[in-house]
Amino acid sequence: MPRDFLKGAADQYDVVVIGSGLAGMTSANILGRAGHRVLLLEQHYKLGGLATWFLRPGGHIFDVSLHGFPHGMIKSCRRYWNRDIADRIVQLKNIRFDNPQFSLTTTFNREDFTRLLTTKFGLQQQTVSDFFDTARGMNFYDDQQLTTKQLFDRFFPGRDDVVRLLMEPITYANGSTLEDPAITYGIVFSNFMSKGVFIYEGGTEDLVARMKKELQANNVDVRIRCGVDRINVRGGQVESVETHGRTIRCRAVVSNANLKTTVLKMLDPNLLDRDFVDRTEDVRLNNSSTQVYMALKAGEQIEESSGDLFFTSTAKEFRTDLLLSRDITSRTFSFYYPRTRPEKKERFAIVSSTNANWSDWADLNETDYDASKQDLIETTLDALEKYLPGIRSKIEWVEAATPRTFNHYTLHEQGASFGTKFEGLGISRELPQQVGGMYHAGSVGIIMSGWLGAINYGVIVSNEVDQQLLRTAASV
Ligand SMILES: Cc1cc2nc3c(=O)[nH]c(=O)nc-3n(C[C@H](O)[C@H](O)[C@H](O)COP(=O)(O)OP(=O)(O)OC[C@H]3O[C@@H](n4cnc5c(N)ncnc54)[C@H](O)[C@@H]3O)c2cc1C
Repeated sequence: MPRDFLKGAADQYDVVVIGSGLAGMTSANILGRAGHRVLLLEQHYKLGGLATWFLRPGGHIFDVSLHGFPHGMIKSCRRYWNRDIADRIVQLKNIRFDNPQFSLTTTFNREDFTRLLTTKFGLQQQTVSDFFDTARGMNFYDDQQLTTKQLFDRFFPGRDDVVRLLMEPITYANGSTLEDPAITYGIVFSNFMSKGVFIYEGGTEDLVARMKKELQANNVDVRIRCGVDRINVRGGQVESVETHGRTIRCRAVVSNANLKTTVLKMLDPNLLDRDFVDRTEDVRLNNSSTQVYMALKAGEQIEESSGDLFFTSTAKEFRTDLLLSRDITSRTFSFYYPRTRPEKKERFAIVSSTNANWSDWADLNETDYDASKQDLIETTLDALEKYLPGIRSKIEWVEAATPRTFNHYTLHEQGASFGTKFEGLGISRELPQQVGGMYHAGSVGIIMSGWLGAINYGVIVSNEVDQQLLRTAASV
């Protein structure tokens, strides 16, 4: 008999959350804490979504997306999770860059960037200060016509090197390009610049285990291996979800699944306004990624001077299309020292990440796919040898992930690493007006992506769901 992953689940809840990414889990946690009956349904066998990890022989643990997030995570985790989680967030102080235009090390905050921009790049203090103030002053309601390129042209005309320093890490962090609205750059850049780059000490598995414990303490019914196939609507109002052949009734649904999948596949588009469906179809997905995971043999080490995050590129100039090209020139290396997991075996790992296009991987047959992955591994090891001579002989385990890997594990269309482009945010916000009780929370619109963006979007949406549940309860 197949295992019943819904054994003991009720037939009705106040709210069903579809997907256990950081936004989904945060929404579920807040709503559970507020006393609502919450069911969290995750199709994968692990919670966390893209905030995930995997184990390999030899005591190796790899983090998939724990490379760095802004300081704001501490506040969000303390408020909406618990102090235990918040207290494990620590700063990464050694951020490095190496490309044909410059090599430098920074703590990646406003003070240090100001020092670099005025001394190494020779800019006027006032220009730098005005740029930081403009970026920090940006918010969601601002002019969305101004592109990031126009913003840079205004402050640093003709300074491709400056643009590279300011933009390359943000493109890595949320997939935004020079052609995207400047606010998608300004908001995220300023978040990082406030205090630098942070990471969770203990590893992703520790974070997700603590989140699961907190969810259960708040009476959230958490179910893995429970993919939702359909969301049923009656009379313009969410009525139930279907999973494993069961129909579970609810007054609200929060979908943490990909926005386009939610609207166009899980809901019946015939029940939505034609214009809304058309606009959803036009929403562009954000790019995907490739990664190479490398673990050192027990006893082998990496010097701390190698840095925590290392942005490397062999491209002569900064161009966002080059960052995505299968002909890889840019690699961001994350170095994981034993301090990442102080309570585990002493191990060193390196993860190389590069933004990537789905189309470069989607249609390869299995032989070509394997060969392309092997090529990705070999060229990455070659690139790393330049910085860590002899590293090949120290590595015990190496493997690659591609856009197909991310698609496989999270069902994100085209393996999107950061949800959708900017226009997705409006669609996500409009959803409850199309179907009463239907919400979306998850990486969307560039700004609401990444660990902090996803958590904060989960907070915003759960507050709206809470209001709706209280309103509808009062009117019954
Ligand atoms: C390679 C890589 C590196 C990254 N590095 C960083 C980084 O350094 N810093 C940072 O801040 N961010 C990083 N990110 C981005 C960050 O991980 C994501 O933006 C964030 O984790 C997304 O959270 P989310 O809530 O949108 O949901 P997701 O993590 O996308 O999760 C969605 C969940 O929904 C589930 N689901 C989908 N469909 C269904 C269904 N029908 N039924 C049930 N469940 C379903 C999926 O299985 C998944 O668990 C990285 C991403 C990638 C891919």
